[in-house]
Amino acid sequence: MTKHAQPHRASGASKAGLLAKLGIRTQFDLVLHLPLRYEDETTLTAIAQAREGAPVQIEGEVLACDVAYRPRRQLVVKLADATGVCVMRFLNFYPSQQKALAPGTRVRAFGEVRPGFFGGEMIHPRYRVLRVPEPLPEALTPVYPTTAGLSQHALRRSIGAALGAADLSDTLPEATRARLGLAGFAESVRLLHHPQPDTDAEGLRDRTHPAWRRIKFDELLGQQLSMRAHYRARSRETAPALAAGKLTERLRAGLPFRLTRAQARAWDEIERDLGRAHPMHRLLQGDVGSGKTVVAALAVLRAVESGRQAAVMAPTEILAEQHYRKFSQWLAPLGVRVAWLAGSRKKTERRRIAAEIAAGAVPVAIGTHALFQEGVAFRDLALAVVDEQHRFGVRQRLALREKGEAGGALPHQLMMSATPIPRTLSMSYYADLDVSVIDELPPGRTPVVTKLVADTRREEVIARIRAACNEGRQAYWVCPLIEESEALELKTAIETHARLAAELAGPAVGLVHGRLAPAEKAAVMDAFAAGRVQVLVATTVIEVGVDVPNASLMVIEHAERFGLAQLHQLRGRIGRGAQASVCILLYQQPLSEGARRRLRVVYESTDGFRIAHEDLLLRGPGEVLGSRQSGVPLLRFADLVQDEPLLRAARAVADELLERDPQAAARHMQRWMGGRTDLLKA
Ligand code: ADP
Ligand code: MG
Repeated sequence: MTKHAQPHRASGASKAGLLAKLGIRTQFDLVLHLPLRYEDETTLTAIAQAREGAPVQIEGEVLACDVAYRPRRQLVVKLADATGVCVMRFLNFYPSQQKALAPGTRVRAFGEVRPGFFGGEMIHPRYRVLRVPEPLPEALTPVYPTTAGLSQHALRRSIGAALGAADLSDTLPEATRARLGLAGFAESVRLLHHPQPDTDAEGLRDRTHPAWRRIKFDELLGQQLSMRAHYRARSRETAPALAAGKLTERLRAGLPFRLTRAQARAWDEIERDLGRAHPMHRLLQGDVGSGKTVVAALAVLRAVESGRQAAVMAPTEILAEQHYRKFSQWLAPLGVRVAWLAGSRKKTERRRIAAEIAAGAVPVAIGTHALFQEGVAFRDLALAVVDEQHRFGVRQRLALREKGEAGGALPHQLMMSATPIPRTLSMSYYADLDVSVIDELPPGRTPVVTKLVADTRREEVIARIRAACNEGRQAYWVCPLIEESEALELKTAIETHARLAAELAGPAVGLVHGRLAPAEKAAVMDAFAAGRVQVLVATTVIEVGVDVPNASLMVIEHAERFGLAQLHQLRGRIGRGAQASVCILLYQQPLSEGARRRLRVVYESTDGFRIAHEDLLLRGPGEVLGSRQSGVPLLRFADLVQDEPLLRAARAVADELLERDPQAAARHMQRWMGGRTDLLKA
């Protein structure tokens, strides 16, 4: 019989309920509930040999077992072996424990030894009373992540039972497994739960052991399979094949610039997809300012010239409105009407616009998520463009997709992202997408020069802005990000605006923040775009999409509070014209280590892909993908940075299995993804 140092109270929660708290629902979940670490109970240490600092296992006979009252009530048990005596001290105990530990009882205890009054002592060791001699275990003892009320012992029993009962047969065809030099699945999970004492401890700890490699590979393969399966499923669905007409040609001919080679290539890829009778699902990636909008406009016109509708969805009102202006400017001369639908518009107006969209009277609708809420029904939606798609929840994207589902055909989807997604992320979480990359900026841009300036030199910065304004240039002043409080952030923005207006004494200073009514926001942005406002004080609302080429100076206050991607996005607002642009990152000392690293990366590089990669290293995929992405199951075992080679291998095997051994693919997916695949369709 095993006794625990702290017997747990009978709790109302059922074992199933407790396991569910750990995310364990099936027998296989138990198999995959892998240890955090191990304890070595395979050997005994002589009491005289027990050293401080590391846990040891001792065994001996109880010499005395007494309740002491000083300094507080506690149970003191003296345990002796042939070499010495060790005290076990319990500050919480049950009367039954005292009885069970009567003198003469044989006990095996595990814990850390510390120096005490009578030599070494263990505080609350784990122990077993040995009624008969018991052999030592042969394997290391697993220590699992658990939850209150569920003991290690109970968890070990459940997992041990699952390991005996579950089907652990290999889902990888033998030839594939051998070719990749991967360990068998069953042997790997068994080893991870019960490693032999001589197992490479470092490999277990840092998860490089072959058994870990196999588990990670399987996890990645499960993810790749489900993504690739969706990808293939889509190619069996139908979408309207869009044919070329005059409008796209006329837009291109009328532009004041030529598409860059990268833009032309992206448009080629998109054009080819749109011409097929299967839904496109493509991500258009490009650094800030690389010119994604015009490529999206071409796609939108392709839908229109085919006699159908297109929708453009942006995550914020200010960005949606920017798109609305830009698209109107390009499309109106071609006689194409564009509707704007945002939550802030009057209800009656929204209803009127929705009716026009439903009747097919306007071919293009641009807006925020309001586009797919409140009963907006498209007559003939052929293309949905989603800007900054990672900012939308998976469910919102699903909703938009369903908008076009009428008549059995799905709309094509073009997603745009100005936050370059690190390769490992796009290979994993976006593995069901095709990707086009605009990896070149339009010509004639002068790279932005970034300066790090301590905020004690604010005066100099003000002088610099004044001088720039006198030369007819324009500047952004970005207010500090205050994550804890939107109200405080707003207050700071208003104060900064007042203070700057006074300090600059001359140039017109505008203010834009998230709480302004849309009409006010639009008025300020208009004035800035037209040059009537020279300095624009802004909260992070300008992070995405704002395009005023004459603005060539940006000051970011408390830059140390911003994330890498945010800083890169903000900086992308300048450097859009021919003149040299400067971004001043004002920081307050002392800088934390993390802030120092972030600022250094932004200072050293303007390459969005490099910055995205650093961001991934600093924050990890969960954060980079954003909390809204929480519908997507993140990886439990594999590490996208460390395990990139495994990810590549898994991707190749996924395609191979889907092609040649769909049954093995299905079995593997069932094992790893269970019922969790529906959210990946978005
Ligand atoms: P982003 O990719 O960040 O959305 P935009 O589409 O807003 O970039 O483009 C940034 C600016 O570059 C806009 O003013 C746009 O009109 C301009 N632009 C786009 N393509 C070209 C090009 N090929 N040559 C010159 N300017 C371009
Ligand atoms: Mg953009």
